[in-house]
Amino acid sequence: MTTINRRHAMAAGAAALAAPAIATDTLVTRAQAQAPAAAAQAPGFYKYKVGDITVTAINDGFFARPVEGFIRNAELPAVQAALTAAFLPTNAIPIPFNTLVVETGGRLVMIDSGNGNTGAPTSGTWMANFRAAGFDPARVNTILISHFHGDHINGLRLRDGTAVFPNAEIQVPAPEWAFWMSDERMNQAPEGMRGGFQNSRRVFGPIANDVKRFEPGGEVAPGITSIAAYGHSPGHTCFGIASGTGKMIYMADTTNHPALFVRNPDWSAVFDQDADAARAVRRRLLDMAATEKTRVHFYHAPFPSNGYVAKDGNGYQLVPAQWTPSI
Ligand SMILES: [Zn+2]
Repeated sequence: MTTINRRHAMAAGAAALAAPAIATDTLVTRAQAQAPAAAAQAPGFYKYKVGDITVTAINDGFFARPVEGFIRNAELPAVQAALTAAFLPTNAIPIPFNTLVVETGGRLVMIDSGNGNTGAPTSGTWMANFRAAGFDPARVNTILISHFHGDHINGLRLRDGTAVFPNAEIQVPAPEWAFWMSDERMNQAPEGMRGGFQNSRRVFGPIANDVKRFEPGGEVAPGITSIAAYGHSPGHTCFGIASGTGKMIYMADTTNHPALFVRNPDWSAVFDQDADAARAVRRRLLDMAATEKTRVHFYHAPFPSNGYVAKDGNGYQLVPAQWTPSI
């Protein structure tokens, strides 16, 4: 009996020792299954080569823009049909923001800066993605600006006034500066446009003497040429990037979301300040990209915003470039 009792006691002891281990394993398994990390995406940067130049698309999230009232010259059902055809929601369209970083000639060059900390709650991911791509804001040499709308320039300066890229030379299109920094233009502008003038002063006012203004049409950095594309704004500028046989065009806001405006180049978003000029530029650049088979980047295309333009009926379509696991 004594022996049996001892055996029972040993078995019970072993069970007592084993039990917590099993319970702990179960808890760990449960904790892993419920980890919120599963909801996070990989960082929003994407690198590719244009000849010897390394280009990195950096995503700054998106803004859900109500569809009603978005397009001036198309009926709502036609716009909703285009969105349905692109598998997009028809009440509010997610408009992405994508800048470029260009490593060229030993220099770190940015094109546009994102929303900084002034945009919609669904935006503002730019700096985390920029750092995840291996970049440091203090090491940026040059920043090229396509135009002065807030989603392109607000990343230069935080809401509290802090300059984000302390060592960068900032280059802007001269006609864009002439328009937005003119007190006369600001005083003549309708109330709804005043914010754009005030924001341009908030961002550029403290560095007005250091900002370099260029006339679009020439080289602005090694391998990068500016292209006049006025219409979306008075000085709206695109950038061509070329190295060896590689070439691409940074289309900026030549079109807003491609599912609407690459497909229907004659549609005008309410943001286009001169709709007729913007439409002519859009037709010209889309045709050029399709004919020359040039790689393109649209600021407001789905990430990584990297593809080609193909003719399709009276419009075009954006064909995504092949994703590559390394450059
Ligand atoms: Zn924009």
